[in-house]
Amino acid sequence: MSPDASLLGPGTPPLADLLQHAFDSRVVRELPGDPDERNVVREVRGASWTRVVPSPVRAPRLLAWSDELGERLGIARPPVADAPAVQVLAGNALVPGMTPFAARYGGHQFGNWAGQLGDGRAITLGEVRARDGQPWELQLKGAGRTPYSRHADGRAVLRSSLREFLCSEAMHALGVPTTRALSLVATGEPVVRDMFYDGNPQAEPGAIVCRAAPSFLRFGNFEIHAAHGEDALLRTLAEHVIAHHYPELDRAAPQRHADWFAAVARRTARMVAEWMRVGFVHGVMNTDNMSILGLTIDYGPYGWLEDYDPGWTPNTTDAAGRRYCFGNQPQIALWNLARLAGALRGLVGDDAALQRGLEEYRETFRHEYLRLHAAKLGLASLGRDGDEALLGELFTLLAAAETDLTLFFRGLARLVAAPARDESALLGPLRAAFYDAGGPSEAHGRELLGWLRRYLARAAADDGDAATRRERMDRVNPLYVPRNWLAQQAIDAATEGDLSVLERLLAVLRRPYDERAGDEAFAARRPEWARHRPGCSALSCSS
Ligand code: AMP
Ligand code: MG
Repeated sequence: MSPDASLLGPGTPPLADLLQHAFDSRVVRELPGDPDERNVVREVRGASWTRVVPSPVRAPRLLAWSDELGERLGIARPPVADAPAVQVLAGNALVPGMTPFAARYGGHQFGNWAGQLGDGRAITLGEVRARDGQPWELQLKGAGRTPYSRHADGRAVLRSSLREFLCSEAMHALGVPTTRALSLVATGEPVVRDMFYDGNPQAEPGAIVCRAAPSFLRFGNFEIHAAHGEDALLRTLAEHVIAHHYPELDRAAPQRHADWFAAVARRTARMVAEWMRVGFVHGVMNTDNMSILGLTIDYGPYGWLEDYDPGWTPNTTDAAGRRYCFGNQPQIALWNLARLAGALRGLVGDDAALQRGLEEYRETFRHEYLRLHAAKLGLASLGRDGDEALLGELFTLLAAAETDLTLFFRGLARLVAAPARDESALLGPLRAAFYDAGGPSEAHGRELLGWLRRYLARAAADDGDAATRRERMDRVNPLYVPRNWLAQQAIDAATEGDLSVLERLLAVLRRPYDERAGDEAFAARRPEWARHRPGCSALSCSS
């Protein structure tokens, strides 16, 4: 249902077809572009972006649309799967004012400088003005080759595109800073991928996601300029980002670049603390996948923790080193910020100030993590003696026996609201969280009970009644998250032409905190069949 425009306030533009919108691009207007417009793979120098048009696809069809984001941007859902707007969302047509480009960036991949990367398959179409007046970039992922495609084809497969579409929107509903997704379009063309890297490439259906964000700039956009001594470009890029995306900063202050770096650090800290709250594992935290706005970006082989295991990484390429496992994410973000700081040294000219920015990351992360985890436990804060130890002991216990992170915290809220008088029944609300059908072993159960007793005593020492506590917990502990196997079921159905599974899942994930009768299946533990199935337990980068 579209809300009446008048409900959004006077002057709010009504929803309009994508073709009716005016487009602009602050990147194109303000940042130096590549004078060379040849769309051939090459090293680009002295520019922040390269003009490139999407490569047409054979038979585009709209598979999914985000009404929520469409409402925000003022873009109406295309009325039919092959509407004219879908041609634009597939890269077959442009709207006047669009100046499509691929951004130039580099990055540190798995700890090493990788040189030029850039938008190898993502093409930004331009900016549309949202109904609140804010400009948002629309970008097609999988829109064909660019000068940054290296050896790859510029395309994306349906499975990974559907996963990006679904997870961006789910993350937004969870309250995690993220880029968004407006549409998922099938290209009608096959894409060949060696999903298992075992020399057996297969043709898979191709797709394009239209992503949206205030900006898709990454740490790597700064790193590439620094790597080539492009000091003026680096400065221009920084001023652009500060002016448009960090309005809270004083642009006249002499130390504004250092202030800005600290602000990037704080936003990054808040983002990662949110990942830890909901159990999200990005999977490829290379510096080219770190948004300069502190948004979750580039959904690839990401995953959701089901049984709590801080060493888990969904990315098969990362299986040996586990660099990007759940528990490492806070450290890796700091490492990435240190690479950004390295790129900004010349601009800031004050290493101590950059060091303080990194310190702000540590402090902000710690503060946010404790704040969010206090809320997860229904406590006003984790500031009392012994509180942090209590939290640490809980995670040791969760890791000791396969325990579903999401279901545990929801169960804990029920338990704390109405603890059973009888010890043997105390664990009742937590039963659904144990992967072993028999429940916890006797020894583990005893330890857990010991922890629960201490926790209940601690909770009782806080002000507030049990019902309020539960309500507070249920607002930060989601019940419905895009579990890997749920996404896989939507992929399997969509591959067969059935989009109802995706639509239903998306509707459930739009309201992740309210328990609803009829949606139990979406809050279930990972079923046994999904334990080792590719796409459910481990994901390859081939997308
Ligand atoms: P990612 O690991 O997905 O963040 O990608 C790393 C780099 O590889 C980026 O420069 C991407 O644009 C590029 N890339 C990934 N997949 C493709 C593809 N199919 N075609 C062209 N470039 C790609
Ligand atoms: Mg990337």
